[in-house]
Amino acid sequence: MVVETRSPEETFRIGMELAKNAKPGQVFTLTGDLGVGKTVFTQGFAQGLGIEEPVNSPTFTIVQVYESGQIPFYHFDVYRIGDVEEMDEIGFDDYIMGEGVSLIEWANLIEEILPEHRTEITIEKNLGQGFDYRRVTVEEK
Ligand code: ADP
Ligand code: MG
Repeated sequence: MVVETRSPEETFRIGMELAKNAKPGQVFTLTGDLGVGKTVFTQGFAQGLGIEEPVNSPTFTIVQVYESGQIPFYHFDVYRIGDVEEMDEIGFDDYIMGEGVSLIEWANLIEEILPEHRTEITIEKNLGQGFDYRRVTVEEK
């Protein structure tokens, strides 16, 4: 599925809609350059799970856990990861095989340890289409 958005609100809404159909144990990956809208998407996603507290990129921790929605939500941002072994140390496998929904920003940096079954989201700019244009691709793997 490919959706084109022209504002942060539209990207937020895609996240929200996808979260409404999310199932426990499902893993979503988010790939795209800095400032493309991964966190905007994630904030919509959190809202779709019924999480009302603010969701930002977990800058100093790799994972942030939210328990206040319909299903636990594990929000990863692996931008600062040095080595995939750091993911073992935080118990990555327990999260992705757990009862919650996992969403991983910058998932391309840990490609080799991603689960085979996942929903891959790629967000891209195209400046020719304007500064606020984004192309959001959603693929089931
Ligand atoms: P990332 O997490 O990918 O680094 P953020 O979500 O933090 O990016 O930031 C995206 C920025 O782009 C925000 O400032 C947002 O307002 C802006 N923006 C402009 N147009 C869009 C759009 N169509 N979708 C998402 N964000 C957009
Ligand atoms: Mg971000």
